[in-house]
Amino acid sequence: MSVVTRFAPSPTGFVHVGSHRTALYNYLFARQQGGKFILRIEDTDRKRYVKGTVENLLFSLQRLGISYDAGPGKEDDKGPYFQSRRIDIYRKAVEQLLQQGHAYRCFCTAQRLEELRKSQTAQKLPPAYDGLCRELTLEESEQRAQNTPFVIRLKVPKEGTCAFHDLVRGNVQIAWSQIDDQVLMKSDGFPTYHLANVVDDHFMEVTHIIRGEEWLPSVPKHLHLYHCFGWDAPKMAHLPLLLNPDRSKLSKRQGDVAIEDYLKKGYVPEALNNFLALMGWNPGEKNEIYSMEELIAAFDINKIVKAGAVFDLQKLNWMNGQYIRNMDTARYLKEAKTWLHPERQRDSRIETALLALKTALNTFTEIPEKLGIFTGTPPEANEEAQNILNEASAQQVFSEFLREMDAMTELREADFKAIMKRVQERSGVKGKELWMPLRVALTGAMHGPELGYIAEYLGKAEAVRRITAHLKK
Ligand code: GLU
Repeated sequence: MSVVTRFAPSPTGFVHVGSHRTALYNYLFARQQGGKFILRIEDTDRKRYVKGTVENLLFSLQRLGISYDAGPGKEDDKGPYFQSRRIDIYRKAVEQLLQQGHAYRCFCTAQRLEELRKSQTAQKLPPAYDGLCRELTLEESEQRAQNTPFVIRLKVPKEGTCAFHDLVRGNVQIAWSQIDDQVLMKSDGFPTYHLANVVDDHFMEVTHIIRGEEWLPSVPKHLHLYHCFGWDAPKMAHLPLLLNPDRSKLSKRQGDVAIEDYLKKGYVPEALNNFLALMGWNPGEKNEIYSMEELIAAFDINKIVKAGAVFDLQKLNWMNGQYIRNMDTARYLKEAKTWLHPERQRDSRIETALLALKTALNTFTEIPEKLGIFTGTPPEANEEAQNILNEASAQQVFSEFLREMDAMTELREADFKAIMKRVQERSGVKGKELWMPLRVALTGAMHGPELGYIAEYLGKAEAVRRITAHLKK
């Protein structure tokens, strides 16, 4: 049987980075197995629906290079599949359960349920339906349904335990006594998540459910539904939570949690995928940089870990920097320019400055600040840097460098290494002592972007002026 996975978000707001990881794992697994990855929008809860979410979601998936497929037997409709357009399928399914006695109509009013909940809380009992309508005969229930609103509940077993195997959690047991008679159909005739999800996974021929750990407690209800329908259940893998550095559940309070925020901040899509893919699974090698193809090849669903994974922003920034460094020049310049004021974008030397920054950035947002080094007068060298300028060897480097400049009409990055080689040979100064004085003279700082590009950006005249200023007569 060929593999079918799905990503089944509810359009209730932004796309959490954890959701994106779920999508990614489903995608990686399906691609690796030569299977299908389908996208299903679980939008039956109209109250929680947030406008614009679906568009946002599709945009993020596209930016991140995650493509989805048509489900089995749906070759002419690639999706995404919206549950709100499939209501009849769920109604038919629930009717079947009702007729077979696996589900029942519940006529309890909101007020009764509220009182029940209050009294259970007062007795320190977990809130659960008490089964008042569970034993109504079908006849009686059909009669009352003529003029009384109702929901439809699943009749879950009341004794024993539900045991199942999860690809991440291993063997899991949950006592049936902990499972409530789940509402499957609300009084407005819309299915709840549990019903629609199971029915769709079956009819869409999903073979592997890969989703967040928060759904693990729902598995018994779902398995019971599969049992009642007489269907085989898909395999399941429940992914560990993403955590804040203090190991609490990843939340907005401690930083951005929406994938859109990271995209807006100019994070490289490949870096985001790489970073998130390694949260909860890793190929067990030293290397941490993986292209999508490499992730697909290496992904191992059996090696997903149980423990929560800490979302380490510093690590993401480091990884993002690696991707910027290795990005092809044209793409880099195009993206980098979007971070500049339009006036700045027209500066004829801006590309040189941006190229200088390529190896010095963790994120594109740093560009405006880091460009400061190229404008106006360099910052005053601090005491440590000043000492470097005064070294005898530095003075030698400056004279030799200026002599090189005499012989050149312009100063280009492409020639910089050769120039420095000659300066080294003639001055006998090498390594840090060779490079650092020039860096300080040209930029006023001991660290920064690539010197050759800085020199080219400043141009021969300005470079000569800055170095001469530090030359002792
Ligand atoms: N609609 C559910 C969610 O947004 C899907 C859970 C599942 O994958 O079954 O989390």
